[in-house]
Amino acid sequence: SSQKETRAFEAEVSQVLRLMIHAMYSNKEVFLRELVSNASDAIDKLRFEALADPELRAEQGEAAIALSVDREARTLTIADTGIGMSRQEVTESIGTIARSGTREFLERLSGDQQADAQLIGQFGVGFYSAFIVAERVVLTTRRAGERDAVRWESTGDGEYTLEAAEKAQAGTEIVLHLREDEDEFLEPMRLETVVRRYSDHISFPIYLVEEASEEGQEPTRRQLNEASALWTRSASEISAEDYTEFYRHVARAFDEPLAHVHTTIEGRLKFTLLLYVPSARPFDFAMAGQERQGGVKLYVKRVFIMDEAEMFLPRYLRFVRGVVDSDDLPLNVSRELLQDNRVVRTMRQTAIKKVLERLETLSQDAEAYGTFWNAFGPILKEGVIEEPERKEQIAALLRFASTSPATEDAPEAQQVRLADYIERMRPGQEAIYYITADSYASALASPHLEIFKARGVEVLVLTDAVDEWLVNHLSEFQGKALRSVTRGALDLESLGKDAEAAEEESAVEDAAEEAEAASEAERAPWLGAVEELLGEQVREVRLSQRLTDSPSCLVREEWEIGERMRRILEQAGE
Ligand code: ADP
Ligand code: MG
Repeated sequence: SSQKETRAFEAEVSQVLRLMIHAMYSNKEVFLRELVSNASDAIDKLRFEALADPELRAEQGEAAIALSVDREARTLTIADTGIGMSRQEVTESIGTIARSGTREFLERLSGDQQADAQLIGQFGVGFYSAFIVAERVVLTTRRAGERDAVRWESTGDGEYTLEAAEKAQAGTEIVLHLREDEDEFLEPMRLETVVRRYSDHISFPIYLVEEASEEGQEPTRRQLNEASALWTRSASEISAEDYTEFYRHVARAFDEPLAHVHTTIEGRLKFTLLLYVPSARPFDFAMAGQERQGGVKLYVKRVFIMDEAEMFLPRYLRFVRGVVDSDDLPLNVSRELLQDNRVVRTMRQTAIKKVLERLETLSQDAEAYGTFWNAFGPILKEGVIEEPERKEQIAALLRFASTSPATEDAPEAQQVRLADYIERMRPGQEAIYYITADSYASALASPHLEIFKARGVEVLVLTDAVDEWLVNHLSEFQGKALRSVTRGALDLESLGKDAEAAEEESAVEDAAEEAEAASEAERAPWLGAVEELLGEQVREVRLSQRLTDSPSCLVREEWEIGERMRRILEQAGE
């Protein structure tokens, strides 16, 4: 309809808006980065849709983003020649917060200003960041291919209005009515600095349009950025800041990436990969697999083709963000065509190889790798299951909590490599022992560990949901079997004894064995009684040498499924 209508933001939007305006105040210039980033995405989308639609091509105009100021009105305008939005798209995209993590984000706020500010910085709010500097935002947009434009207007305090509008050029124009103290964003120099800092990597020209000094003259415009696709530039010309800002743009993320891979392959196929390892999980990452696929942005010959192209990476690397650009794929590729494609397969293999190599180098930096591991460790573990050919390589990248922790003040931290464990194995020890549990504390309290403690044998403590599957698929590492402490008859005879201790102990043991034989005979009737009492619930009641403190414990046979696996299957209704 052409009538003006007033609508309310979703409750969460107002809440996030209020928080953001306060929390982001020290870093308010990021609003420009967000609006320019959206403008660039919109131009990408129009170029893509125009590939298949001559009518849209006619509407395209120069692909560019223009900043202009009106000193008298105290407004800053950001205009793009992108895809624009229909009325419905406006309500869907900016009348609500589309981000699926909003609720979770609000739940995580603690009320502690400093901690919350950091959280908000991570969460990011895209378009709404306009309200950090603007007391009123007027957005006029026309979707390419549609006749009617629409105007959206809001002061950011709970409501917005929508009405029909006119707009000659397809695209979006956003007028920011600046708050009282924000005059700095009327200064060309200030705008230029901010664009260079955050948006230099944008592939399209960003112009600063300046009013003519003399009446009747045309305004002049000046290009502020380099305007070539960042991944096509050589690494030596790209600063660390540019890499970071480009990551934030493509990943729609707000963290500092931990590492990147930037490589161009020129052989039978030509392609470029610019892939990043993030340092933090996006808020909606937990829902990956359902809603958000992850994946990279696909470009073909510098033309944007699609977001979240997940076929270029395996599932276990779904945290990787970035772009891939192929010279060999046709511009009209579809998702279906990409599913089984020779070019994609080659690019994917290269991407996997490069990312795993990069993780290997990253792992030499314990702190950085710790950050990576805390965010994505359980996901990387899936690689052992998903890609048996690279099992050993991926297993080398895994880190575990252990009964011999690397750090005393955080014993549950996952920091032990399988190779570390093997190095520390006791003489005579043949297997890598692990225990699976819901938590580090409950694992440590397990009676199964008593004999290992007594013998000074390290045990890996596995507490992630994926671990039960992991150990099912990782039966050995560097020739050493992985063995659960709860399974089967443990050969603990010679375990953990070095030569000297062994001699000393043997005397003690002879005595113990005698006592044991005696006690076995003595206790046979008692064991029988317990067996009878427990009936169907147990297969056998045995006297054990494993326990040093606890009176009894449950063990399972070698072939039985693990405890957690059993519970998972039960939950799944099997
Ligand atoms: P994000 O960019 O992460 O999706 P934003 O809050 O920045 O989140 O933007 C929300 C949505 O609004 C975008 O996904 C897009 O659909 C729409 N949008 C924002 N700015 C523009 C624009 N300049 N042109 C077209 N669509 C836009
Ligand atoms: Mg955005």
